[in-house]
Amino acid sequence: MSASMSHRARRRFGQNFLSDPSIIQQMAMVIQPQPGQPFLEIGPGEGALTRPLLDAGVKLSAIEIDRDLAARLKTWPEAATGQLVVTTDDALQHPIATLTELDAAHPLRIVGNLPYNLSTPLLFHLTESLDNVADLHLLLQKEVVDRMAAEPGSGIYGRLSVMLQYRCQVRPVLSVPPEAFRPAPQVHSTFVRLLPLKAPPLAGVPPDALAEVVKQAFGQRRKTLRNALTGILTAEQISASGIDPSIRAEQIDPVGFGQLAIMRAAVKEI
Ligand code: SAM
Repeated sequence: MSASMSHRARRRFGQNFLSDPSIIQQMAMVIQPQPGQPFLEIGPGEGALTRPLLDAGVKLSAIEIDRDLAARLKTWPEAATGQLVVTTDDALQHPIATLTELDAAHPLRIVGNLPYNLSTPLLFHLTESLDNVADLHLLLQKEVVDRMAAEPGSGIYGRLSVMLQYRCQVRPVLSVPPEAFRPAPQVHSTFVRLLPLKAPPLAGVPPDALAEVVKQAFGQRRKTLRNALTGILTAEQISASGIDPSIRAEQIDPVGFGQLAIMRAAVKEI
């Protein structure tokens, strides 16, 4: 019996395994793995993406929370040679930045068909530190990718859009229908490429202040900025950072949020 036939998908781990060979091949073509490149795969599952990556000759670290699936991957021949290193862990707790391969000469490539129930926290965790990360290719629920890539002025532009666009270029690359998975999820998926920006849209923005301002501004997105930011910035301070306090959060681009965050950090210092 093959591994894929004997494993029952576990809902609590968000397991929907890719089972359409043509989609898997298209994803591998998008990733373009090259021999010797260091990869990190989040949630390899039964190895649908792991297999073509290893066949292309990459060096792959995989983090899988499901002990049974991790144990199976550890029996692969590439695990014996060291080309594949499997860690049984919760990727959310795993310190991505301390991965051994992480060095400037060999920037890390991150891939994953993420569990949908954890996709937003995992996205934030993975993009927290992008030093020495070459790119990320993630398969996510379509609506999540739409929000990540949304532009100011659109109704779905929000916290996820600003925080990700502050760190990465967001490029949706492939639509994946529910039938490509076993079991089939309720939702459509999009494969997205994230390219870390060489420099942020605005320099010198303290990350904590940016996270605080963005969270509060979109927490009450129907309100004007003056009202939404009550308690952290006054209307005068918002104006002084170059932003009109009578507009709403969804009208402000990532640079504008950077300006507000610089003001917030300065106000906190006082
Ligand atoms: N990559 C496989 C594929 O494409 O067929 C599996 C994808 S499945 C949607 C998500 C995988 O992530 C599962 O193997 C699941 O066990 C694993 N997973 C779920 N939560 C995780 C976590 N917190 N850390 C690491 N892996 C996790």
